[in-house]
Amino acid sequence: FDGTIVLFTDVSKMKEIEDMQKQFLSDVSHELKTPMSAIIGSVEILKRDGLDSPEIFQEFMDILLKESYRMQNIINDILELSRLDQTRVKLDFKELDVKAVVKESIDLFEPMAKEKHISLIYHNKIEKPVILDYSTVKTILSNFISNAIKYSNDGVIKTKKENNMFVLSVQDEGMGIPKNKLNYIYDRFYQVDKSRSSKISTGLGLSIVKKIVELNQGIIDVESTLGLGSTFTVKLPINPKVSHNEDII
Ligand code: ADP
Repeated sequence: FDGTIVLFTDVSKMKEIEDMQKQFLSDVSHELKTPMSAIIGSVEILKRDGLDSPEIFQEFMDILLKESYRMQNIINDILELSRLDQTRVKLDFKELDVKAVVKESIDLFEPMAKEKHISLIYHNKIEKPVILDYSTVKTILSNFISNAIKYSNDGVIKTKKENNMFVLSVQDEGMGIPKNKLNYIYDRFYQVDKSRSSKISTGLGLSIVKKIVELNQGIIDVESTLGLGSTFTVKLPINPKVSHNEDII
């Protein structure tokens, strides 16, 4: 007998990931169940009473459409999160005309803003192209702008450069977020007030933004006062030597 070797393996991290995956799966099922039940219920009512009453037909067709959109948005957001969760996400760093990209996003949200009689304002302090990942900037803009429209009646988008960082902020004077809820807004499926969520709300937008900002080794910050409004800010490093055409893990 020459001795004993005892081998300990720390599996706590693996267990933590496993638990998170289980929790996510259960959240996904729960979130999909709600619109699915509404869709089934509406089809049942339409089948029974829809042909006799144009009002019922209209009402339940609207619910059907709204819940189908919600399901589609949840699925798209889950797919995006799962893509970002892959270990090797390819970020494509190229020269970007920031002004043009922001204007592109504003144009995309113009119809939604018009519906709420909102005008989106843009202040830019960057004239020359900067090296950034286009898809990152577009994702951040889409989420911040759509949230400003959903939870406010205005939106001011600002872009500037600060110590070799690209700074993008979206400020609104909307409903704001309670201080004790600020820590949760990046959690998957978290919504401050679920009963007021619109057809395009999924509670996944900010978790996608946080994830993509982390992949870029950037910083995300929010300042918000209940009833007065919120400012979401993202800072992304502009460092082509480190990040140009490399896989960021
Ligand atoms: P959602 O699809 O619900 O908008 P997000 O992940 O984008 O999901 O946001 C999470 C929650 O944070 C929202 O449900 C909302 O309660 C709150 N929130 C996000 N942006 C704003 C904002 N600009 N003003 C007020 N509340 C906001």
